[in-house]
Amino acid sequence: MKLAQRVGRVSPSSTLRITAEAKAMVARGVDVIDFASGEPDLDTPLPVKDAGIAAIRSGFTKYTAAGGIDELKQAVIEKLRRDQGLSYDKSQVLISCGAKHSLYNLAQAFIEAGDEVIIPAPYWVSYPDQVLLNDGTPVLVPTEEATGFQLTGALLERHVTARTKAVIVNSPGNPTGAAYDRKTLEGIAEVALRHGLLIISDEIYEKLLYDGLTHVSIASLGPEIQARTIVVNGVSKAYSMTGWRIGYAAGPKDLIAAMTTVQSQSTSNPTSISQKAAVAALNEGAIFIKEMVGEFDQRRRYMVERLNKIQGVQCAMPKGAFYAFPHIGGLIGRHTPDGPLASATALAGYLLKEARIALVPGEAFGAPEYLRFSYATGMQNIVAGLDRIDEAIRRLS
Ligand code: PMP
Ligand code: GLU
Repeated sequence: MKLAQRVGRVSPSSTLRITAEAKAMVARGVDVIDFASGEPDLDTPLPVKDAGIAAIRSGFTKYTAAGGIDELKQAVIEKLRRDQGLSYDKSQVLISCGAKHSLYNLAQAFIEAGDEVIIPAPYWVSYPDQVLLNDGTPVLVPTEEATGFQLTGALLERHVTARTKAVIVNSPGNPTGAAYDRKTLEGIAEVALRHGLLIISDEIYEKLLYDGLTHVSIASLGPEIQARTIVVNGVSKAYSMTGWRIGYAAGPKDLIAAMTTVQSQSTSNPTSISQKAAVAALNEGAIFIKEMVGEFDQRRRYMVERLNKIQGVQCAMPKGAFYAFPHIGGLIGRHTPDGPLASATALAGYLLKEARIALVPGEAFGAPEYLRFSYATGMQNIVAGLDRIDEAIRRLS
């Protein structure tokens, strides 16, 4: 069948694919430890589930306004005021079926053929492909581990052309765990304003920061920059609600209106029941977050310490999110019984086969000498998984 050309430019989300494969292996009874999944292992908090159940029981099971219910928009507005000191009105907020969907609506509403979008690498898998699906050109800008995998104003400036329309900032970041400091964000904001760029600020890991760090939204740096920024966030990671599919965007009114139109012609509203649950999460979920962050912090320290003890592996301490992102360049070229390991993908394949560990190789994120380890899994798994990895790597010659 002759498919649309745009499909040929993209591939299935590798994070979702590898996670699905790992889950299917576990379901078949294979003893696989899953360090691939980008979702918290904890259960959705009870008050949030209760709100969903109450929505079903009360018959809140019909279409809602395509862009989401006012009650949830209001909860988002209050959250952005409370946490970021930002004010928005309802016409500046869109509720979507996940942050990924908000980002996709944005790409549809904003990107045209030839438009360039600057994406710092390593990047989350879906950023380049969403731009490509909308005929745009992703401009991948490598960042350095030594400088905390941060894009800077100077680096941005070097990649801006007459076609540049937007830049993506993801802090805390997937896959690196990078968290941008205020000064670096100010540098990016200055360059973006000068060139009239839209800043796409993906803040989905906002609540997952360690060592006393606090999140800074680039939109909060001043009214001028807020007017040029679209903040994307959601309840998936902060409240362990990945399956409920609720995300949101807040930004310029005309852009939000266009994104809402796109959504109204594609998915219609996000699930009514999930919207009610998300209201409960945003209004009552603070305690849950505190517990989750405490738990993840312990796992993070343990995992990074163990990774650094493995020869050929170096892992910086991530500042946020729930991923460790070790450099594994020292293992490339080492020998398995089947031959030399030529890439991070080959190493991930070896570890799946020999140690039964699922991981996402760095190629998926534009970082071919790295592997992504999610620590959003139980401590027991983390201990056992690292034992197995250590042992499998010792067997390399
Ligand atoms: N942004 C980043 C950086 C992510 O890792 C994810 C993970 N799925 C998303 C956006 C989208 O999350 P969701 O669609 O579940 O809200
Ligand atoms: N964002 C998560 C990850 O990077 C979930 C999967 C996805 O949507 O990509 O693994």
